[in-house]
Amino acid sequence: MIAARTIPEARAALRELPRPLGLVPTMGALHAGHLSLVQAAKADCTSVAASVFVNPTQFGRGEDFDMYPRDEARDLRLLEEAGVAVVFMPTADQMYPEGFATSVHVGGRLTESFEGASRPSHFDGVAVIVTKLLGVVAPDVLYLGEKDAQQLAIVRRFVRDLDLPVEVTGVPTLREPDGLAMSSRNVYLTPEQRAVAPDLYRALLAGAAAGGAPGAAAKDVVVAATSALLLPDGPLDSDAVDEALAGPRFELDYLAVVDEDTFVPEGALGPRSRLVAAARLGSTRLIDTISVAVPAGDDCTDSPSANVPSSTSVPSSTNASPSSSAYPAKDATA
Ligand code: AMP
Repeated sequence: MIAARTIPEARAALRELPRPLGLVPTMGALHAGHLSLVQAAKADCTSVAASVFVNPTQFGRGEDFDMYPRDEARDLRLLEEAGVAVVFMPTADQMYPEGFATSVHVGGRLTESFEGASRPSHFDGVAVIVTKLLGVVAPDVLYLGEKDAQQLAIVRRFVRDLDLPVEVTGVPTLREPDGLAMSSRNVYLTPEQRAVAPDLYRALLAGAAAGGAPGAAAKDVVVAATSALLLPDGPLDSDAVDEALAGPRFELDYLAVVDEDTFVPEGALGPRSRLVAAARLGSTRLIDTISVAVPAGDDCTDSPSANVPSSTSVPSSTNASPSSSAYPAKDATA
């Protein structure tokens, strides 16, 4: 495996690789979820390249850029073992040289809602760095995780809008055995927070189960998921209330059923329906998502609530409370 630190080094190494070439962009601190993207790339492509770059422009003020986990030696070892041929690990001044003045902005609701509302300018940072990585690596296929579903939709959008010559492939979320979506930022969770963190995915599963019922609308999905997040163990007796109040509690940022291409909230379930959620445990913000798609023609537009867009912020309760501020200091988004 060649580790290239500069753009000329990367281009020289990549030129030698047999095609098709897959690219897996990462911010390092690798886990099995990242490596599942490499496996997906290996299954489709003759050669696989990866990038490791903690991109400063996608972190907001007060977010965790400085404390973001970094372990270059371990990342290199894991990528080599996984069969990556070239890893591009640029410095910030390679990617943003003096005088850098270009932005890549996907307009409208897709970038302004949900993650975009909580993290203004985040997606501009993502769009510019992905565009640059595509320019440097020139892969045939780009592999991104479905976990970051809004990011995936945004990259698909600008690749289409700008006619960039790359195919974008979404890879399913890899989870810990208890269901928590793998994330480099899970290391921020305290043991108590880590113990309740899988409740977010359990809530999404409850939403998806409700969506599978005949005649279900998006609102049914949101209500079931919200209820499961609020009361993961069902109604509480008086002892359990004290215990629950003493433990870590989710602060729900959003929980909604959206069209996975546009991120417009949906009323009726359809073939592109996705349940998306973000919730904070202490200063760590978890995001997760699950498909709640129903086959075309199966949507239940006859349901009374079917055309009401469904999303929620949850009132204060035992395990969840509404998030108060958009993004406090040293925040961490998984
Ligand atoms: P990051 O290093 O967090 O920027 O992630 C790099 C890529 O890995 C992105 O496309 C993510 O969506 C993807 N990814 C992160 N976590 C997972 C996971 N648990 N399963 C699958 N893909 C993931």
